[in-house]
Amino acid sequence: MSILNKIKNKFSFNYRKKRWPGLINAYKQYLPVSSKTPIISLNEGNTPLILSKSISDLIGNDTKVYLKYDGLNPTGSFKDRGMTMAISKAKEEGREAVICASTGNTSAAAAAYASRGGLKSYVLIPDGYVAQGKLAQALMYGAEIISIQGNFDKALEIVRKLSSEYPINLVNSVNPYRIQGQKTAAFEIVDDLGIAPDWLCIPMGNAGNITAYWLGFKEYAKIKKNLKLPLMMGFQSEGSAPLVKNIIVQDPETIATAIRIGNPVNRDKAKIVKKESKGDFQSVTDEEIIVAYKMLAKEGIFCEPASAASVAGLIKNKNRIKKESTIVCVLTGNGLKDPDCAIKNNDAIFQKNIEPSLKNITKILGY
Ligand SMILES: *Cc1c(COP(=O)(O)O)cnc(C)c1O
Repeated sequence: MSILNKIKNKFSFNYRKKRWPGLINAYKQYLPVSSKTPIISLNEGNTPLILSKSISDLIGNDTKVYLKYDGLNPTGSFKDRGMTMAISKAKEEGREAVICASTGNTSAAAAAYASRGGLKSYVLIPDGYVAQGKLAQALMYGAEIISIQGNFDKALEIVRKLSSEYPINLVNSVNPYRIQGQKTAAFEIVDDLGIAPDWLCIPMGNAGNITAYWLGFKEYAKIKKNLKLPLMMGFQSEGSAPLVKNIIVQDPETIATAIRIGNPVNRDKAKIVKKESKGDFQSVTDEEIIVAYKMLAKEGIFCEPASAASVAGLIKNKNRIKKESTIVCVLTGNGLKDPDCAIKNNDAIFQKNIEPSLKNITKILGY
């Protein structure tokens, strides 16, 4: 190596120091694992925190809006963070099977991690309300799928009973290990920003994730990794807003199927998060979700509709945001999960059945 190159190497910062080992190995000291825990991992976590220029500009006032793109986890949603923990612990306990109710992403993650760990997985899903990509995943990863003529809430009621009577671990977000794994997303944000954001905007279904983030921010604050705590802003769809309205919604309806939940299991925990963080729960319409969904995609970030609720909610609060705030919106799932939604809701120019001649195409391009 030339002297010049040696000097260059010495002063160039190596961003990719070593292979990311998955979130359990990375944050072991903060998680309920021991040397006896068999770690079932797909190297999940370490997802990018992307500065959004368009949303930052829209909010104005020198606000910085970052997107925690958790749709880049191995199965395409943040559920992997909880599932690596839940499946590792199930394996440690010697269980042979796990079960969950799911609007899609939990079943995809449960199926993938269970198969990787050599466990069987059973998933109950609401007939006709699971996005195509998620269904494809559960089928491919090897779950046994039971589609019920009922919604998520009904499915959850059944799997809760089953898991209490038989030796099958429930891996929905009532499973405390799910929350433990998911809190690492808050750690990553603080590690990246060097401080907690002023606001955290997040979609809420069963409200496990907002509970997990708050736990993560609080735990990191205790060991002085961040000196302040964010306001926790939880968003639901107007047709599925049990936490905003403080009711049980019998027939939840929304385009954002991942948060189509009428009776959130973590309701009480979510209320505490709102109170402790001085945050707020609000609803956004499906139309507002789609506006945000398209805006993000135009900046190169494709998330699923439920995830766009976090950005739609932020936009609604534009006038409440203090100057020079730092805000993180959590993008919980990948846009590829729900191709039907994208195909139905876009502003693309898509010309079909065109005769393939150079002259014809040139004309179409306007040259
Ligand atoms: C599960 C899920 C949510 C909701 O998370 P909760 O922990 O149930 O509040 C939001 N978005 C996506 C994409 C999900 O898969």
